[in-house]
This record gives sequence, C-alpha cells and structure tokens, in this order.
Amino acid sequence: MNYYSLHHKSPKSTFKNAVVQGLAKDRGIYFPDTITPLSKDFIENISEYSNHEIAYEVIKQFVGDEIPAEKLKKIIKETVSFDFPLVKIDDNIASLELFHGPTMAFKDVGAKFMSQCLEYFNQGNTDEITVLVATSGDTGGAVANGFLGAKGVNVVILYPSGKVSDIQEKQLTTLGQNITALEVDGVFDDCQEMVKTAFLDEEITKTLTSANSINVARWLPQMFYFFFAYKELQSKNKELVFSVPSGNFGNICAGIMAQKLGLPIKHFIASTNINDTVPTYLVEGIYKPKPSKATISNAMDVGNPSNFIRIQELFNNDLETLKDAFSSYSFTDDETRATMKDIYRNTGYVAEPHGAVGYLGLKKYGLKENEFGIFLETAHPVKFLDVVEDVLPVKVEIPEQIKKIINNKKVAFKASNYQDLKDFLMK
Ligand SMILES: *Cc1c(COP(=O)(O)O)cnc(C)c1O
Repeated sequence: MNYYSLHHKSPKSTFKNAVVQGLAKDRGIYFPDTITPLSKDFIENISEYSNHEIAYEVIKQFVGDEIPAEKLKKIIKETVSFDFPLVKIDDNIASLELFHGPTMAFKDVGAKFMSQCLEYFNQGNTDEITVLVATSGDTGGAVANGFLGAKGVNVVILYPSGKVSDIQEKQLTTLGQNITALEVDGVFDDCQEMVKTAFLDEEITKTLTSANSINVARWLPQMFYFFFAYKELQSKNKELVFSVPSGNFGNICAGIMAQKLGLPIKHFIASTNINDTVPTYLVEGIYKPKPSKATISNAMDVGNPSNFIRIQELFNNDLETLKDAFSSYSFTDDETRATMKDIYRNTGYVAEPHGAVGYLGLKKYGLKENEFGIFLETAHPVKFLDVVEDVLPVKVEIPEQIKKIINNKKVAFKASNYQDLKDFLMK
C-alpha cells in the first residue's frame, strides 16, 4: 500500500517508510493512496468473526505485503489483547469502553501496534530507532508500555515536571529497559517544542520518529473500535451515531475510515472541550488554530488538531459534504462536571471527563427515534481520579494494572532546555 503526503510535495511512500519516518520530508502527514470497502457479506456477518479476525480484515489492505500475513496476525494478537465492552447507559445510548488495556487508556492499541511494526521493520538493522514523544500525561504511559522491550527501538518520553498525575508519572518513569523519561522543567508546550526542534536538528544523526497519531501505524488500528462496537450491538436496526471525545482528532478520523470501509455509520460527532478550533471552523468556515487552553479533560487540550487535515481529505476538502456527515460541539468544564453528575444520578454510570464530553455531544446533537448513539469512553476513571472523586460521591477502586506500578521507583532524567535533550540524544 502506498501513502501520499497531504502537503503533496513528497514522493509516495511505502507503509514501512511511513511508519519509520512518521512525517513526510515535506512535513506533511501521510494518507493512504486507496481505500477499498470490505465485502457486504463480511459486515453483515460480523458477529461470526473474532476480534482478531475482524482486526486483520480491517487493517490488511493498509499494510499490504510489507508484513507477511502470519506476522501481521501475531501483531494483532498482541495488540488486541483485552475487551472493548459496549455498556448500555439508557434506551438509546451506550458507552464504548476503550480503557481495559494495560495502561487503561485507549491509546494502548495504537501504541502497541506501532511498536510491533517498528520492531519488525527494523530487525536486522544495526542502528536503533529512537521514538521521541512529548506527553501531557496520557499518551506517555501508553507509549511506554506499548514499546517496552521492542528490540532495536528506544523510547524517550518528555513530560512536564509536576504537571502530570502521580499515577501517570509512575507509568512513565518506572518501566526501565528501552524506555527513558525526561522530566522537563516547564509545561507541555515546552516539551512539544523540544521534540520539534530535535526533528529539525541536522546534527542529530540518529533515526528519530514520533509516536503520536500522525503516525499511520498508531492512527489506523483505531478503526478496530468502531467495528468491535458494531459487532457488539444487540440490534442493528437503528441508525448509528458515534460521538468521539476529540483532541488531535485521530480517533474520530479512524472512525470515518471505518465508515469508508463500509461500516454503516450515519453520523459522527467530534466532541471537544473549550479548545474549539474545529467546532468554530464548522460554523465560520475558516480554520484558525489557537493556543491550547487547560481543562479537566486535558488529553483533549489541543488548539491545532493534527489529524483534521485527514478528515478534510476524506470529504474531498468540501465543507458542505463534511457538515452532512459530521458535527462538532464544544463544552465547558462546568457543563462536563454537571453531566458527570447527571449520568451518575440517572444511571449509576461513572464517566470520567472525556467520556462525559462525548456523552454531551450526543445530547446536543439530539438523537432521533430511529437512531442509536455510542460515545467513546477513552480513559478509566482512575486516570482522572482527582476530578472524578471531586465531582462524584464515589471512591474509585484502583485496578490491578495500576496497583502493580504504584510502588515502583521513579527514574527520570532532568532536562531544562533543548540542549539537555540534544546532549542526551548525542550520547
Ligand atoms: C488522546 C485522548 C483523547 C483524544 O484523542 P484524539 O485521537 O487525539 O482525538 C481523548 N481522551 C483521552 C483520555 C485521550 O488520552
């Protein structure tokens, strides 16, 4: 399968090259050359397939012959290693829980798939690949866990000192092996800036790549969730509406890809916090990135969502066509807290802030009689413990995955500026 750069100034790329490089040379993100719908028969009979079989059918055209079928199946087995329950909240709404993986964040799937692809593509090379990531909390843990032990791949995670939760910090700093944490004296934007500078620094000769959702191997496996949800649906008579809590818009863009592959989805809602670049664009027709603002759903504090350009491409860059199939709404922290309370009071369900924003999207859209709404719950409540226990009268039980690491010893290197990162990478 070939991929082209959405800046259209680089030659086409193989899947392998797109995974190893992350970004094209013209700094554009990659997009698949062709998207071939799956057979109607497969989609109509989806309940007869295992999650592993579904994932293989969904991803195989995007990998092509660059990974042998047997190896790709093995990668899928490692990646799809937990459940994705669809929990009914009321008559016409369910929560798709994506948080039952090793770090309890939905990014576990993309991180594992990408690490396994990189390891495969780099085998036999003497040079190691260095994956650089800046995290505001959630991504780092999933990447650290997903890449742990991947041969020939080193991971350097930059995080802002004192700005991630205790649990998140433990997830980043206690694994060892090929994972290194750099504790940056600054905020998330400083971490992001240092990573960007490193990518442009010609004195760094190591092969650097990024593990955020611009990478096709992290982005595409997220299509699986939407197929798994469809499989789980008891009745397939109603029209499906998905609301996706969105930050960089990678997850929702994968949902639209699933629709292109033939999954019968009627409408998408990108639900955001007050970082409302996309909702504003849909109203005003002008795309204006803004600096990000801090919220209680902080994994979505993104002012310039990097995957939105992929969504525009999927709709032929036509705003009117986009608006038919896609809505986007923005919600404040107060609305989010009030909704967490409402959901809990009415149904007993504990939603963390990102899921609550997703639920709000369905309410604002206003489901019709013949529609069924699914919102994606992207993190376990324990990942946002302070907010959840502050807003709801509950005590969140600490899951086994988290208990295992909570007493491990933190190891992190301090970095206060770009030179510190550079020294570290040139060692
Ligand atoms: C990353 C993340 C999101 C946003 O996902 P995108 O694909 O960047 O839109 C939402 N919720 C949680 C908990 C996340 O970690």
